[in-house]
Amino acid sequence: MSKILLVTGGSRGIGAAACRLAARDGWDVAVGYGSDASAAKQVVASVEAAGRRAVALQAEVSDEKAVIALFDRVEEALGPVTGLVNSAGITGRASPFIEASVEEMQRTLDINVMGSLLCCREAARRMGKGRGGAGGAIVNLSSGAATLGSPGEFIWYAASKGAIDSMTIGLSKELGPEGIRVNAVAPGLIETDIHASAGIPDRVERMAPTVPLGRSGSAEEAAEPVVWLLSEAASYINGTVIRVGGGR
Ligand code: NAP
Repeated sequence: MSKILLVTGGSRGIGAAACRLAARDGWDVAVGYGSDASAAKQVVASVEAAGRRAVALQAEVSDEKAVIALFDRVEEALGPVTGLVNSAGITGRASPFIEASVEEMQRTLDINVMGSLLCCREAARRMGKGRGGAGGAIVNLSSGAATLGSPGEFIWYAASKGAIDSMTIGLSKELGPEGIRVNAVAPGLIETDIHASAGIPDRVERMAPTVPLGRSGSAEEAAEPVVWLLSEAASYINGTVIRVGGGR
């Protein structure tokens, strides 16, 4: 099977690390991004330096038309997708729940939940063996927040990641017969821009001592299980959520 991977949120953080590690594993990579074109271009350069093909493609993941067009553009540039990583995600601005705004919560749910649903649906339509596709693998980015709940920070974000776990389980059952494996990775405290974007730039430093391993994780440490789940080495893994949280 050809190895053509789309990573949403591929421009930064865990998604960018997944793009780089996937290139090492022989995947051609479409680097999906929201607004940071220069970061996406740097990831493309890394993938190409590893000897694989790559393209940077902008798409708002919560927009149905944009997602359909994104998959069309990947197909034109690289060929039909056989792997999808849904890494695009936000927390929204951290706050106690009673102060949360509807706009902040809605935007988080739109990107994290609807964005992942739309990308999974489009991947399923194109990869499903019953529809002439080649099969493939999907990895969704959940979070330790799905079971920790994120009290005092971003309850709505935790809820969005609970939805990721549910769709991963359901899709693994519905799409398994189509030759598509669906799994998730649930990172814990990982060093990326997401914490500063939430308005808590010192979050990683402050919380690292609460992790049983005594430290935060790198984007690469979160991305390694993502690319493993995409690989043939994980050929009998379906419907699993792998916690990558240092014991937290
Ligand atoms: P990050 O460094 O903030 O990167 C977020 C990525 O998502 C960027 O590439 C961004 O693209 C893209 N993105 C955001 N909104 C988008 C939209 N509306 N449409 C398309 N792309 C969009 O985040 P990260 O820490 O790598 O997180 C990646 C995933 O892991 C997320 O789903 C997150 O919830 C999950 N996660 C992270 C942690 C952690 O501690 N870091 C822990 C648990 C789970 P642009 O920059 O181009 O806009």
